Amino acid sequence: MDTKKIGLNTICTHIGEVKDEQFKGAVSPIYMSSSYEYEDVAVKRYPRYYNTPNQAALGEKIALLEHTEAAMIFGSGMAAISHALMAFLKAGDHIVLQQTLYGGTYNFAVTQFEKYGISYSFTTGWQPEDFANELKENTKVIYIETPSNPLLTITDIEAIAKLAKSKGIVSMIDNTFASPVNQNPVDFGIDIVLHSATKYMGGHSDICAGAVAASKEHIEKIWQASICFGGSLSDQTVWLLERSLKTMGLRVKEQNKNAMVLASMLEKHDAVERVYYPGLASHPDHELAKKQMKGFGGMLSFELLETIDATAFLKALKLIKPSMSLAGVESTMLLPTKTSHSLMSAADRKAQGIKDNLIRFSVGIEEHEDILADINQAITTVTNNQVLA
Ligand SMILES: *Cc1c(COP(=O)(O)O)cnc(C)c1O
Repeated sequence: MDTKKIGLNTICTHIGEVKDEQFKGAVSPIYMSSSYEYEDVAVKRYPRYYNTPNQAALGEKIALLEHTEAAMIFGSGMAAISHALMAFLKAGDHIVLQQTLYGGTYNFAVTQFEKYGISYSFTTGWQPEDFANELKENTKVIYIETPSNPLLTITDIEAIAKLAKSKGIVSMIDNTFASPVNQNPVDFGIDIVLHSATKYMGGHSDICAGAVAASKEHIEKIWQASICFGGSLSDQTVWLLERSLKTMGLRVKEQNKNAMVLASMLEKHDAVERVYYPGLASHPDHELAKKQMKGFGGMLSFELLETIDATAFLKALKLIKPSMSLAGVESTMLLPTKTSHSLMSAADRKAQGIKDNLIRFSVGIEEHEDILADINQAITTVTNNQVLA
């Protein structure tokens, strides 16, 4: 099979499996061994070497999904991110990071880099010139995340990749929110693609994993660091992730569709102040999103009218779960001020446009009519209670 020509769902279903030569079973057997004959392969097989049969096969699938030469699987998104960063940074180096980042990545930067003598700057915005403004002689990595959490801002991937290339800087992107279904950053020149596979790749809120996809050369460098840091994933979970990825295309395309419908409905809703979704024409970066995304994703945020108590609204939901994390087949909502961005000062949140009544919505695969009905009943319940109180 010419793997260069096959489509998304075929890759999801067939590529990167471990053939069951012994029993001819339909799915990959799980190889849990932590000890292999040492003549087996050039680099000895060992779980922490990221090269067990299941790890290697899944790496193939993810590489093909991200249009890269190679990929590695990690124990979490943060393991993938931290191992990749530390592979390319050393004492005396500088890194430019996008202003709004996943909380764990932000926390890693502000609590870890200084200990290793690595300096860092956060951009003041998302425009390419905001990144150019922060560059220094010793900048070695530019790090972006698009669409961002929780306001779904869009960073120009191609412009950032060009900027990095022109200065010989390595570019990295956290592609978690888009998933490989909706965005392939390597096609726009990015060097290293990072994923929390806990999210859309896993998709069922039941595994924690991470992935890095890049050229063979970059993966080799990340591998050298990663065998020291030891953030590999158990083969049982590798197997579960392989199974989850078989339906990633189906799940994410359904989530794209639901999110588009719900974003449009919420935008017209009397109780809603504002909706943030890159698929809406009203989104300031809609044109850019159209250029670099194949679908607009299953994440959106919205602000309820200030007269509606957002916490009470979340409590009144019956179908949609008010829970942390995102990207599962079930719809979930949370208040960034109370969860993902609670460690940020109120002033910083205000500066980034994250209001107290902002709700982050991870759209699931339920029927959109049922999701909307739940939102409506929760709004009615809260407004009635408020009138009575
Ligand atoms: C969840 C998440 C991470 C971290 O992934 P873990 O699997 O929790 O370590 C990184 N980036 C983004 C955008 C995420 O949503």
